[in-house]
Amino acid sequence: MTDQSIYDAFDEAARATADQVIAWRHQIHQNPELSNREEQTSALIADHLRSLGLDEVRTGIAGHGVVGVLRGGQSGERVIALRADIDALPVTDESGVSFASTVVDEDYPGGPFPVAHACGHDCHAATLMGAATVLAGRRAGLPGTVLFVFQPAEEGPPVGEPGGAQQMLVEGALDDPRPTMAFGFHVTPYPKGSIGYRAGNQFGASCLIKIVVTGMQVHGSTPWMGVDTMPAVGAILTGIGQLYRQINGFDPITVSIGHIEDVGRFNIIGETTTLWGTIRCAVESDMPEVQRRLTTLAEHTAQAYNCTATAEYLQDVPAVHNAPEWVEAGLPTFERVVGADRVAQTSATLGYDDVSEFVNKYGGLYVTLGVQDTTLDENGNPVPIDGGRGLAFNHNPRFYADDETLVEGVRLHCHVAYDHLSGILTPASQ
Ligand SMILES: [Zn+2]
Ligand SMILES: [Zn+2]
Repeated sequence: MTDQSIYDAFDEAARATADQVIAWRHQIHQNPELSNREEQTSALIADHLRSLGLDEVRTGIAGHGVVGVLRGGQSGERVIALRADIDALPVTDESGVSFASTVVDEDYPGGPFPVAHACGHDCHAATLMGAATVLAGRRAGLPGTVLFVFQPAEEGPPVGEPGGAQQMLVEGALDDPRPTMAFGFHVTPYPKGSIGYRAGNQFGASCLIKIVVTGMQVHGSTPWMGVDTMPAVGAILTGIGQLYRQINGFDPITVSIGHIEDVGRFNIIGETTTLWGTIRCAVESDMPEVQRRLTTLAEHTAQAYNCTATAEYLQDVPAVHNAPEWVEAGLPTFERVVGADRVAQTSATLGYDDVSEFVNKYGGLYVTLGVQDTTLDENGNPVPIDGGRGLAFNHNPRFYADDETLVEGVRLHCHVAYDHLSGILTPASQ
């Protein structure tokens, strides 16, 4: 068999899974589950992997994580981890599709929340299930091992619960066999069937901010008898605007407080106010400095208003780093899958993805797959095309992904897996 006939066979098998992949995607989309609550999604995945007769199907990892192990029939030392995240978001589904979610999670901490796959992880899960079908069907020709890694809680577990990629590693999910490459993709509003990559940091470093400002509770008519936290909180928010000027202006950072929680009411000045937010840094080494300065700002500003403040930084996620030598090794594969004219370097983002835990540890690549009716403007940004469904970014209630494009994701997983196992897709140094 020539190489091309091997790829043709993968493509044919991938296309044969298309209807099933779309059906899985609809089922997962209609039954979305928040981070660390992915019970049904995990069971669907595990049942499918077991039906394929894989060598091993590990479940209950970091909550609801699943890892399938497929040992190929040809000798080979390489091990590829193909990763898909499976959790949904506390967002209302306004995608307008017939399989839109109407699910509300009543019990989630801080909830109840509407739940939707507004980040497209339903697509990631379904395409990796399809890739498992294809690769298991051709296992005799695979020169190495494939790990199908279905990861929970990418969007961040409830505060105080462990979860996500980091927890999968803590639990030894990928210790044996140890991957020689990790790979995954994220669906984005880029043109359908296009692959975006970035050499260097593609996604930023992230952490969750929790700042608690404490005063002294008192009746709203006698503020002088207590200590009001609100002016201190206002001053902290204003002060955050100056942090940017204290970090190298060529390294983008952002500090956002998205949620403020107090315990007062219209006639009660509350005892505490809690600020929840996130820090993002394009350059990971800036993170400790931003945290240090924010802590100083919070503590000293609070003091100026006779309050106290504590700052905590939780759920640290490292930046996704695509090493240039891995990008160079991967480009011929990407170009074969979607055509050279549909592979483009994209700009960096301050979004995060905890696939970084896998890619940074084992080496490998994380790319994006376009799934919307868009085209790129002269700056490389997606803009809607006439007559299409428009442009809707991830996490927006109207986010959508085109069903027909999912088969490209199945093909992408299969080509990358085969190329890595057979030694075509690997840095020259390895
Ligand atoms: Zn997301
Ligand atoms: Zn996502």
